[in-house]
Amino acid sequence: MLSVAEARRRILERVHPLEAVPVPLAAALGRFLAAPVVAGRALPPFDNSAMDGFAVRAADLPGALPVAGAIAAGASPDAELRPGTALRIMTGGPLPRGADAVVMREDADDRGTEVHFAQPATTGQHVRRAGEDIAPGTEVIAAGSRIGPGEIAVLASLGQAEVAVGRSPRISILATGDELCPLGGSPRPGQIISSNDLALAAQAIEAGAEVIRSQLVPDDRAATEAALIAALDCDILVTSGGVSVGDHDHVRAAMSAVGIAIDFWKVAMRPGKPVTFGVAGGGALCFGLPGNPVSSLVSFELFVRPALLALAGAGERERERPRAEVVLADPIGKSPGRAHYLRASIRRRGDLLEATPHTKQGSGMLSSLVAVDALVEVAAELGDLPAGARCPALLLRAI
Ligand code: AMP
Ligand code: MG
Repeated sequence: MLSVAEARRRILERVHPLEAVPVPLAAALGRFLAAPVVAGRALPPFDNSAMDGFAVRAADLPGALPVAGAIAAGASPDAELRPGTALRIMTGGPLPRGADAVVMREDADDRGTEVHFAQPATTGQHVRRAGEDIAPGTEVIAAGSRIGPGEIAVLASLGQAEVAVGRSPRISILATGDELCPLGGSPRPGQIISSNDLALAAQAIEAGAEVIRSQLVPDDRAATEAALIAALDCDILVTSGGVSVGDHDHVRAAMSAVGIAIDFWKVAMRPGKPVTFGVAGGGALCFGLPGNPVSSLVSFELFVRPALLALAGAGERERERPRAEVVLADPIGKSPGRAHYLRASIRRRGDLLEATPHTKQGSGMLSSLVAVDALVEVAAELGDLPAGARCPALLLRAI
């Protein structure tokens, strides 16, 4: 059976980042840069003072100097400092021609028309040189970077009112199952309230996708095919349920029938073994996720999320969850063969991260989806593990 790593590799191989779209900078938060940002101007744009104080020539200090005027932030940069004088200057004020140092106000004895400096000054002190932060022509942000508040500050300073980012992927969600009652309806006896469609939509939105369709589909071959055809006008199609070997599992056959070329079915993992991946004629990446709520959530996390992020233009690092080594607080029972993904809470113990796996690890156990800090990855080849064993984990939230 395919390993998780191999399945992920095969999916990512089929991802072609979506086209770049221009967005106003204020709307770019969380998007991914479609091209590297190259500085079109210097930062700072002109020599200026890093302190409130006095612009001087270092050679004139120590001693007393007459104060010849004042330069505020925003003043035009045409002032000149005559030798043997000082100019009052504020933080951000343009350095006057002839000055080569700034003495901070706290180090000066300011007597109004005259200022006394007890200490010498060094050339360049408290001066921010034009371009010392960012020189024109420098690549400051790599393509594929996620735009956060810091990147927005840099782009704004460089005057980029608009930025090219990857288009947001559009996702269609089909939840299959005769037993499903939509949220808000009254479940008949034998029915359950569908949760996968809502959980998958939440995961998709969290990953920056736009949910363009979400619907329930009965366990009927013709209805499944019709729903697939109607939903294929998207970048990613995700189905839940009906991909296993039950009498009423129609999703894989229906996918093939509507022209989705199945790349793989079944991955050596738990939960989530029957996960299916294929590509539609029109290019949509199609994921058939198992119906058990935990399987659905975990397989979205491992396979769909990185694909969505890669489509949106995320670089390799941006599309992966942070990983860390954790120490198991409790022993776990496992037979070799499939990789296990245990929902766990994490707490710090000194330098270690201690993972307590949820006690109910069954793939239908919705309670194990609450307050999950991490998915602890127990490699396929491993068997039972004692408390204290170390495993890698995917961190789903800050700890
Ligand atoms: P399936 O993969 O279709 O065999 O479904 C496996 C299990 O997951 C069954 O117990 C289903 O009732 C349950 N299930 C399937 N779809 C959903 C859904 N949308 N919401 C909650 N549970 C579901
Ligand atoms: Mg089903």
